[in-house]
Amino acid sequence: MVSNPGSPVAAGEAGGDLRTGTDWEYAPAPESRDIVSIHDEYGLFIGGEFTAPVSGEHFSTVNPASEEPLASVAQAGEADVDRAVAAARQAYDQSWGKMPGRERAKYLYRIARVIQERAREFAVLESLDNGKPIKETRDVDIPLAAAHFFYHAGWADKLGYAGFGPDPRPIGVAGQVIPWNFPLLMAAWKLAPALATGNTCVLKPAETTPLSALLLAEVIAEAGLPPGTVNIITGDGRTGRDLVAHPGVDKIAFTGSTEVGKQIQRTIAGTGKRLTLELGGKAANVVFDDAPIDQAIEGIVNGIFFNQGHVCCAGSRLLAQESIADPLLDRLKARLETLRLGDPLDKNTDIGAINSREQLDKITSLAAAGEAEGGQRWSPACVLPDRGYWFPPTVFSGVSQSHRIAREEIFGPVLSVLTFRTPEEAVAKANNTPYGLSAGVWTEKGSRILSMAQKLRAGVVWANTYNRFDPASPFGGYQESGFGREGGRAGLAAYLHG
Ligand code: NDP
Repeated sequence: MVSNPGSPVAAGEAGGDLRTGTDWEYAPAPESRDIVSIHDEYGLFIGGEFTAPVSGEHFSTVNPASEEPLASVAQAGEADVDRAVAAARQAYDQSWGKMPGRERAKYLYRIARVIQERAREFAVLESLDNGKPIKETRDVDIPLAAAHFFYHAGWADKLGYAGFGPDPRPIGVAGQVIPWNFPLLMAAWKLAPALATGNTCVLKPAETTPLSALLLAEVIAEAGLPPGTVNIITGDGRTGRDLVAHPGVDKIAFTGSTEVGKQIQRTIAGTGKRLTLELGGKAANVVFDDAPIDQAIEGIVNGIFFNQGHVCCAGSRLLAQESIADPLLDRLKARLETLRLGDPLDKNTDIGAINSREQLDKITSLAAAGEAEGGQRWSPACVLPDRGYWFPPTVFSGVSQSHRIAREEIFGPVLSVLTFRTPEEAVAKANNTPYGLSAGVWTEKGSRILSMAQKLRAGVVWANTYNRFDPASPFGGYQESGFGREGGRAGLAAYLHG
């Protein structure tokens, strides 16, 4: 074990109750990984079956908490992308695209139910491949993924009554590229609305987290979808690029970095392909002096330390009203001392591993920039495991708007604290970002919530809560956070002509 250099005392030294001398440490509570059987090697899911890549190439996916290789996964090349798009086109023309909505719904319900039945297996696999704590995969990622399929199954036979005209038409073949932060959930966000509206899909999961999408491919086969309706092709950024550029794809749905989103826009400009982009964010979580402080503390913690801060809508900028900033910060630090960092499969773990070496390097370098620019850095006492990719929960106070850590998306467990005096100043600071995905407001005044929600330039504004997701609620951003909405009725529109 290596003690975190940013912390004054390592947990081992600090542990124990000073009054009684009793050690109140939790006993380990690891979830068994026996429920999951990971294959040594995976092919590409094309035309309803797993096939070897024409490219002949494979790459390894590792457990970020231990750096242990988990499986060898196929790298889809141009010819493989071609095969997947052809399979999706055939399914669209011959079966799925013609199928009545009430029939499509049955398949979606089936997928939802099988995800529920195999929820534990999915949760363990996701924690192994991604590094996120089992209590999050078990209680958030997997139930929400199932909920997305249930919700959209309900829409499939009602599209004609939803305000899209009497006979809404699907777009055709959707190419969908997703990131590593919520691997199964992002697959569900992409596939469920596309399928409900009658499109067929080629999905590319992120290079570092392909395994839950490949298990989903097994579920899709088990649910009996017509072959080619969903194709799942693994690979790195080159596979995503080939899929985006493929002339046989009618619509692109992308979630990931703003930089790649812009590249995609350039690639498809003038092709007539439809596009939705869900990109980065730098959300402000605004706490007024009349806020319910205990709730606000939980909301701040959930806002930035949920999923190690690997969340596009993370509340990475805390805007605290000046009159309460000091006590708020003290209470926040006291709360952070109780967070438990470590084995993602332990049911008591709050903070898991950083997903990859690259991401850890990025977080490390932005945190160093925060210190160099004069921010006061603080982390709770915690011990980082000596293998794997880890970063302690970190708070920067004394941050000004020009600091890089107040402007750039860190995508890690790092909170920047700024202050404000008036609601106008809070709005001006919150909106001072090229992004516009989400924001939080904490106050007991309903009128202030409504006023702030109107003025904050963000796709989602949470009031006295944070990071709440529901398939019925549209999600998406403004400016460099992208365009288009996912979820709800608005999310269906992205997959229909009109
Ligand atoms: P990317 O945008 O590179 O990756 C997202 C997905 O796009 C992955 O499947 C990736 O494949 C694929 N991809 C990469 N290059 C291309 C391309 N040229 N054309 C089409 N698809 C491509 O994000 P990263 O994983 O590299 O993360 C970098 C930063 O992006 C993070 O630090 C964070 O700031 C931000 N990010 C934002 C997310 C969000 O939810 N808004 C999610 C993830 C990251 P592969 O995985 O193989 O590279």
